[in-house]
Amino acid sequence: MWINGEWVSGCSGRVIEVLNPYTEEVIGTVPAGTAIEVDRAVQAAQVAFTMWRWVPGVQRAEYLHEVARKLREKEMALARQLTLEGGKPFIENRDEVGWTAACFDYYAEIGRHSRGRVIPSIESSQLSLVLKEPYGVVGCIVPWNYPLLLMAWKVAPALAAGNTIVLKPSSVTPLTSLMLAEALDHLPPGVVNIVTGAGEEVGNALVTHPQVPVIAFTGSTAAGQQIARLAAPMMKKLHLELGGKDAFIVAEDADLDVAVPGVAWAALLNNGQVCTSTERIYVHRSLMDEFTTSIAEYVQGLILGDPLEPATDLGPLAREEYRAKVERQVQDAVERGARVLTGGRRPSHLPRGFFYEPTVLVDVGRDMQVMCEETFGPVLPIAAFDTFDEAIALANETDYGLGANLYTHNARYVKRFYEEVRAGTLWINDPLTDNDAGPFGGVGMSGVGRELGEEGLDEFRVTKHVHWDFSMEPKPWWYPYERYSREREGGS
Ligand code: NAD
Repeated sequence: MWINGEWVSGCSGRVIEVLNPYTEEVIGTVPAGTAIEVDRAVQAAQVAFTMWRWVPGVQRAEYLHEVARKLREKEMALARQLTLEGGKPFIENRDEVGWTAACFDYYAEIGRHSRGRVIPSIESSQLSLVLKEPYGVVGCIVPWNYPLLLMAWKVAPALAAGNTIVLKPSSVTPLTSLMLAEALDHLPPGVVNIVTGAGEEVGNALVTHPQVPVIAFTGSTAAGQQIARLAAPMMKKLHLELGGKDAFIVAEDADLDVAVPGVAWAALLNNGQVCTSTERIYVHRSLMDEFTTSIAEYVQGLILGDPLEPATDLGPLAREEYRAKVERQVQDAVERGARVLTGGRRPSHLPRGFFYEPTVLVDVGRDMQVMCEETFGPVLPIAAFDTFDEAIALANETDYGLGANLYTHNARYVKRFYEEVRAGTLWINDPLTDNDAGPFGGVGMSGVGRELGEEGLDEFRVTKHVHWDFSMEPKPWWYPYERYSREREGGS
């Protein structure tokens, strides 16, 4: 683990084994941290905070740019490690490293310029300031599907705002997160600390630590609820990026040459293991036959295999239990009348690795698990709609609210879509594109708070209003100040 600028092994003596989901072999171990290491890391971060908070924004920006530079320098090694422990194709992991570096560059610049603002005061003898100040030690807890990128979405703005960090990586992908320390080792000791270990042990210790006022978490809704329960008695500031069940609407005027591969990309990027993966597809009835046949053919052409091979489109799922969940949901759908157009099984030519064929389902009922629970796997359940009213109602038929997508040329549909669909990000004709300047987050069971953009910086800053009157006149004017003066004179 990386604590106070040094490598340390845990005091428990226990380790966590890290698997390669392609070979199913153990490729390394990391220490199973405990509350003791969490406390050491928090104490180091607390001490570092007393200095880091006063480092001028321009200087912090240089530190963050240097993180970005080192990440780019290590791009190939980091991408390879991400591939070995997460199973995502190498080319996608190179993208992830690049996006991670870009996020550090972005917050270096935003943090450099932004400290607060002067607001109109009530009288001319007054100055009113809105100050943005760091909280202190921020606890960051991240998942395995984009371990570097989702770390950067928290760590970069939190550091730019003047906070210090204790980071808990996922136990599925801790090796890449520990390599990250090499890109952070120019920061003063204690500014970023990395503690590996189980969510229930290290995560809980971080969430309940009295010197950690902010928890920034990305992961499942169930874990987010548990964190909210644990943090409530201390009134911690929570930032929760949780699960999703994104809809994709394909309107009757959509161009299928674009929409078929576009929907497949939105559903199958990282094997469907993206929080904003398309998990419900609603197609206008007039296009249904052509769309479903074409997407089934397209998906059949994707290459499953070794994620390190450049030709591979889809690697294995990250863990056996994630594949088992996908299998359960597809089985539930089939037992209740859904038809499998392609997939629906493990590929016979890949007996090793947690592979599952990309699966297109039709005749899907709205109460089937694939339509209401997060799948987090390569499944495309498709249903028809007749009117745009119906499409919007279907898109909103979820407790989640992370993202939603639409293909159309119709401006009226576009306006209705972004005004009426309840989600944090609405993509029109360009699925899943991220923009560092665009705030990202959910509503409902998809969480609270926003990452990225200026909103993402504000998540890590306390807003203080400073009211300063330099007239030195007694105020308010109606308060009997003279009585006090008379009494003082009479008494002297
Ligand atoms: P997870 O909830 O199992 O774990 C996420 C992290 O939280 C891990 O580091 C884990 O060790 C830790 N954790 C688990 N239980 C905890 C607890 N009780 N207290 C403290 N920490 C705890 O999620 P996962 O399987 O790693 O990731 C997949 C989930 O993440 C999916 O639901 C996906 O939708 C969601 N996700 C959301 C976003 C987003 O931005 N909204 C992005 C990526 C992934």
